[in-house]
Amino acid sequence: MQFDLPAAIHDLVVARNKLRETYRKTGLTFTLDGNLIGDLGEAIAAELFDLRLEGRNARGIDARDNRDRTVQIKATGTGRGAVFRPSEERAAHLLVLDLDLENLKGTVVYNGPEEKVLSYMSDDWRGQRLVPMSFIKMCDADVNEEERLKSAVTLQAPSSNLTPIVPVNRQGTLCPACNEKNFILWPVGWDAHAAYACRGIAPGTPDQRKTEFKKLYLVS
Ligand SMILES: [Zn+2]
Repeated sequence: MQFDLPAAIHDLVVARNKLRETYRKTGLTFTLDGNLIGDLGEAIAAELFDLRLEGRNARGIDARDNRDRTVQIKATGTGRGAVFRPSEERAAHLLVLDLDLENLKGTVVYNGPEEKVLSYMSDDWRGQRLVPMSFIKMCDADVNEEERLKSAVTLQAPSSNLTPIVPVNRQGTLCPACNEKNFILWPVGWDAHAAYACRGIAPGTPDQRKTEFKKLYLVS
């Protein structure tokens, strides 16, 4: 499952590349990692799967889905894998996102029960430990479809079949109907928003509301 990174990240990558060039002789790489990658992963996952983020203090549980199931979100910018700590609270569900900041692309590499990936750890697991990407991918191949979180959007968007009339903005794009919701990956997430949340669309069934929104703001 692939997606485009939000356009807002582009400026950051350009600035990083400039830094890298300035200090080229030092061999330092100025890798974008740590909290930035983690936060980016959470923001994207929340939009892709219509999740409610839990905020900073919830260790091990980053979000809940619309059925209140707990979700842990791990993101990597290096493709090496995901780090876990035994002290973290365990979530029912795990999403692992691989973010390719050079090409502004991302992939959902794991979408399934958290315990499947944590089976990598030994019983006397202490401290933080990396589960390698190869193992995570193997686990994902083993997940049943009904165990996966359903994506809130058709992931051909934003690159292919639907072209937004409202242009993509680097800081995100405000919903053209209500001017309230900020889509960081516009138009990814439009359908869930139009069906249930948007105050700029006339009342109706979720399907009617989606049809109306699509007619006004998206071209097939
Ligand atoms: Zn709206």
